Amino acid sequence: MKRRMSNPVRKHYLAELRALESRIRKLRKALGISPPGLIWSGNAPDALIIVTADGYGAATVQQVEDNYPVDYTIRRAQKCRTEAEACALAEIWDGGEGPCLLCNRELISGNGDNWDGLCPGCADRVNAYMNKRKLADSARDKAILQLQKHPQNHK
Ligand SMILES: [Zn+2]
Repeated sequence: MKRRMSNPVRKHYLAELRALESRIRKLRKALGISPPGLIWSGNAPDALIIVTADGYGAATVQQVEDNYPVDYTIRRAQKCRTEAEACALAEIWDGGEGPCLLCNRELISGNGDNWDGLCPGCADRVNAYMNKRKLADSARDKAILQLQKHPQNHK
């Protein structure tokens, strides 16, 4: 059984805890990383996309259903090495809304072949990138992320 802590010891521990948390906040700020927890969420209510930071620079993208955050089912999840990569992937999963995932121009429906968040021109680029590397359809997210990272390297 735990012994009761004396008041001075308790006070000392609390002061140390505050100092450590302040130090942690400063380190995270210097490193440019978020504390653990939700850092991004999409708009689609039927298939909500969320990004959760681990507090050490990495993050997980999840597609959740039902009653997030109380009682929910995880449909798919992927860990990413950086928060930025996770947010970029989340926007792909959340696709369809907002501007083109690659060139950032507004998507106009009925104007050629938009492809799940890509304008016709970028859809062709992603398609060509995937064909050249003989990538399966399931590698589309990765292809988009690669093209986002190195827009000029891949023609
Ligand atoms: Zn585009």
